[in-house]
Amino acid sequence: MAVGTGNVAAPVALRGRRRSRKSPAMTANAPITQDVLTLPRRLPEGGQRNLVGLTRAELGEALAAAGTPGTQIRMRAGQLWQWIYQKGVRDFAEMTNLAKDYRALLAEHFTVAIPEVVRREVSADGTRKYLLRIAGGHEVETVYIPETDRGTLCISSQVGCTLTCSFCHTGTQKLVRNLTAGEIIGQVMVARDDLGEWPAPGRAPKDETRLISNIVLMGMGEPLYNFEAVRDAMRIAMDGEGIGISRRRITLSTSGVVPEIARAGTEIGCMLAVSFHATTDEVRDRLVPINKRWNIATLLDALRAYPKLSNSERITFEYVMLKGVNDSDAEARRLVKLIAGIPAKINLIPFNEWPGAPYERSDWARIEAFADIVYKAGYAAPIRTPRGEDIMAACGQLRSATERARKSRAGIATEPGL
Ligand code: SAH
Ligand code: SF4
Repeated sequence: MAVGTGNVAAPVALRGRRRSRKSPAMTANAPITQDVLTLPRRLPEGGQRNLVGLTRAELGEALAAAGTPGTQIRMRAGQLWQWIYQKGVRDFAEMTNLAKDYRALLAEHFTVAIPEVVRREVSADGTRKYLLRIAGGHEVETVYIPETDRGTLCISSQVGCTLTCSFCHTGTQKLVRNLTAGEIIGQVMVARDDLGEWPAPGRAPKDETRLISNIVLMGMGEPLYNFEAVRDAMRIAMDGEGIGISRRRITLSTSGVVPEIARAGTEIGCMLAVSFHATTDEVRDRLVPINKRWNIATLLDALRAYPKLSNSERITFEYVMLKGVNDSDAEARRLVKLIAGIPAKINLIPFNEWPGAPYERSDWARIEAFADIVYKAGYAAPIRTPRGEDIMAACGQLRSATERARKSRAGIATEPGL
């Protein structure tokens, strides 16, 4: 299969100039997408099909194709769904409400597989970072952030990112592929394994403490450039007969892929966060180059029209605090003017530094002064405490540890299991 086909939605692969990271000024003309390899998805030929990540309808079709009698498909799909997503069971032999020979049939045709944990790091503040290996040997990161009133899992939607935000470590990664729905929901299952969150046999899931109460799509990648897989995975996460996380506890963060924003509201129904980061097109072009395609005014129009928008379901504006770049009082005042009328909260993120980053974090007093102006204008303006910095797990620091050398298209096309 040719590179750039398949279900890959990122618009540009193998195009654009290589960018330089030498200084902030040099990023002014950064291309919107970088010179990366975007890998298509290929189902393994032969072998067993992984049931993780299939929608309920796809699961039914797969069971039918394996020879499940038509009258039983609904019931069998429901039983499997509960074993996989409610109980965390992956061995067909343990699925005790299925007949023995049916279990054998399932094992012959299918697997229940999630990404493999390559490394697990725990920060001094309790944040956990998992480095996961997925088909083709690629790696992604997932971060668990425990807080007093919630536990948030930050998941990835792509290996790397095709976009080139100049302050983001993920954006420097050259190898990119969309994750499958199974690899996206698989991150939640990996974390549940590690946290011991599956209910003990015989106990109802609601009796268990919710260690993962929230999901944020704020790890590696641009979720709206992998829309279908993200949607299917989040529908599994929300399904009441499985993981059962409310749509209001799932937040999708986008850099501003305007044509896909409304779909996130209608087809997923989750909360929306937007990487805003600047108050003029000139500065935003430099920080978030997708702004050159969809500028601030166009983005704000799409946000005003977001289907879920209301006072109880506000949009989160993420604003990274970069010293001397976007952190003045004048910018704080311009920000509140720009978003007037949009039910919103503003998350101020102190810049998380990474080796070779071309920016510095704003001073604390500056961040507080900025927050004060936003707050006085009537918006919640929490300053995000950086979490897991000692293990490079904070926002925008994720990047797979062993990015392999560039490969030829032919080399990638022959990778097994993609
Ligand atoms: N691609 C999506 C989601 C992943 S990034 C997006 O851009 O929205 C999650 C958040 O972290 C975004 O708001 C992003 O702009 C921010 N971020 C990226 N690099 C950062 C860094 N080094 N320090 C602080 N925030 C960063
Ligand atoms: Fe991609 Fe988001 Fe990083 Fe921008 S901030 S490069 S969109 S992951």
